[in-house]
Amino acid sequence: MKVIMAAAECAPFAKAGGLADVIGALPKELSRLGHDITVIIPKYSLISEQYASKFILKESIEVHFKGRQLPFRLFEYKQAGVTYLFVENDDYFKREQIYGQKDDSERYAFFNRSVLEIVQLQEQQADVIHVHDWHTAMIPFLLKEDQRYASIQAIKTVLTIHNLQFQGKFSKEKFLENFEMNERYYDEGIVEWRGSFNSLKTGISYVDKITTVSPTYRDEILTDFYGEKLNSLLQEKQQDLVGILNGIDTEVYNPATDLAIVREFDAMSMEGKQVNKREIQSKAGLPERGDVPLLTMISRLAGQKGVDVLQEVLPNLLEKEDVQFALLGSGEEKYEQFFQKLAADFPDKVYIHIGFDEAFAHLLYAGADIFLMPSHFEPCGLSQLISMQYGTVPVANRTGGLKDTVIEYDENLKTGNGFLSDFSQDKPFDLALQRCLDFYQQPKHWETIKKNGMEGNYSWSRSATEYAKLYEKLI
Ligand code: ADP
Repeated sequence: MKVIMAAAECAPFAKAGGLADVIGALPKELSRLGHDITVIIPKYSLISEQYASKFILKESIEVHFKGRQLPFRLFEYKQAGVTYLFVENDDYFKREQIYGQKDDSERYAFFNRSVLEIVQLQEQQADVIHVHDWHTAMIPFLLKEDQRYASIQAIKTVLTIHNLQFQGKFSKEKFLENFEMNERYYDEGIVEWRGSFNSLKTGISYVDKITTVSPTYRDEILTDFYGEKLNSLLQEKQQDLVGILNGIDTEVYNPATDLAIVREFDAMSMEGKQVNKREIQSKAGLPERGDVPLLTMISRLAGQKGVDVLQEVLPNLLEKEDVQFALLGSGEEKYEQFFQKLAADFPDKVYIHIGFDEAFAHLLYAGADIFLMPSHFEPCGLSQLISMQYGTVPVANRTGGLKDTVIEYDENLKTGNGFLSDFSQDKPFDLALQRCLDFYQQPKHWETIKKNGMEGNYSWSRSATEYAKLYEKLI
C-alpha cells in the first residue's frame, strides 16, 4: 500500500513530544512490512544542520493560499525505506519554536494545502492519507469539499488523535481567511463546534477511520470526563474509532547501543546503569551516591502531566526521605517556578533543567532509578515505555495508556513492572511512590521489577501490523 502521512512533528528532525516519536518510528515499521510510506512535515528552521544538510531539493511548487499562488520548496530525504518530504516556507516555518505562535492557524492551514498539492503531484496515487492531530486534521475536509482536489478525492483518510485536548480552535474569521471556503461550512456547524472553528472536530467528521494511541484512551474519550467536549461526536463515530497502542523506536531507545549515554547495559548485566547514575549526579552537582534512589521526570510541564500532584508530594518527600530528584522539562511558567524553588530549597537533593535536551533525556532514562508520571490523563505516554526499556521503574497514575502498559508489582507472583496510583479511586500518588521506595530498599525485588520492565516488548511491530490492517480494510 502507498500511504502518505502528514504531521507537525517527526523525530529526529523536529520534536516537541510523543507525536514526533510516533511519526519517527511507525513509518519505518510499516516500510519494513513492505509498504510504501511517505512522511510530510514542515521544514522548520530549527531542524539541525546535521539532518537538513542531507535534504535534497526536489522541486518548487506553488500552492493556492489566501488568494494567491504561494511558492514553496520541497525537500526530500530517504532513510530506512521511508521517504521524508519537507515543506519549506520561511514566512511560516522559520521560527524558534514549533508551536505557540500567534499565526499557528495560518501556518498549518498553509501546510494542509501544501500536503494536498504534493499528494496531487504523486506519480502513483496514494491509497491512504494518514493525518495526525489538529495540525493536519483539515486535510480530509479540504480533500472532500474543495473541487481543486477532485482528482484525488477517492483517497481514503485516517486521523490519529494523539491528544484530544489540542483541537486547533480558532475564530470563524480565521477559518474564512485561511481556508477560503464557503461561509456555510461554519454556519451549518460543519467546521464549527460550540462557537468556534474547530480543526480536530472537522477532521473527526470527515475521515474514514479515527485511531487513538491506546485502547483505554479510546474508551475514555467517549466519556464526559476525558472527552474534552467532543465525546458526543466521538460516540457517533464509535464504529470507526479504534485504539492502537503506541510503541517506541527500539533502535533509538536501546540501553545496549545508545550513544547518548556513558555506559551501555542490558537486562542481563545492569552494572552500566550505575555509571550513568553517577554521571547524572556529577552533571547535576548532586552527591555521587549509588545507594540513594534517584527519581526523575522528563516532561512537558502542563496541567495534564500532574505537576500539581508533585507540588503536593515532593516537598514533603524531600524533607523526610533520603532521595534525589532530577527534572528535565519546560512549559507553564508557574510549574517551572515551582521546580526552580524546589531546587533552591533542596540544593543537595534536587536538580532542575528547564529546556528540551534529547541527549540529557537519554542519560536520565538510563541512569535514574524511578520515573514519575502522575498524569491526570495520558493518551498513551511514551516516557514510561522508554523508562522501562532502560530499567527505570515507573510510578504512574492509572489512566489511558499508562493503565495499558504499567502493571503494579506483585511481590508474591514477582510480576509487574511499576507502581500505580488511581486518582479516580482515591489511591494517591504518594502511597504508590512510597511502595516503590520500600521495594527499592529490597534489592532482590528491585532487580526483578527492573528486569520485568526491561524484558517487556515495546516495539512497534504488533501495532504497525494493526495500522496496516486498518488501511487494508479501508481500501
Ligand atoms: P507528550 O507527547 O504528551 O508530551 P509522551 O510521554 O507521549 O508525552 O512523549 C514525550 C516525549 O518527549 C518523550 O520522548 C520524552 O522523552 C520527550 N520529552 C519531553 N520533554 C522533554 C524535554 N524537556 N527534553 C527532551 N525530551 C523530552
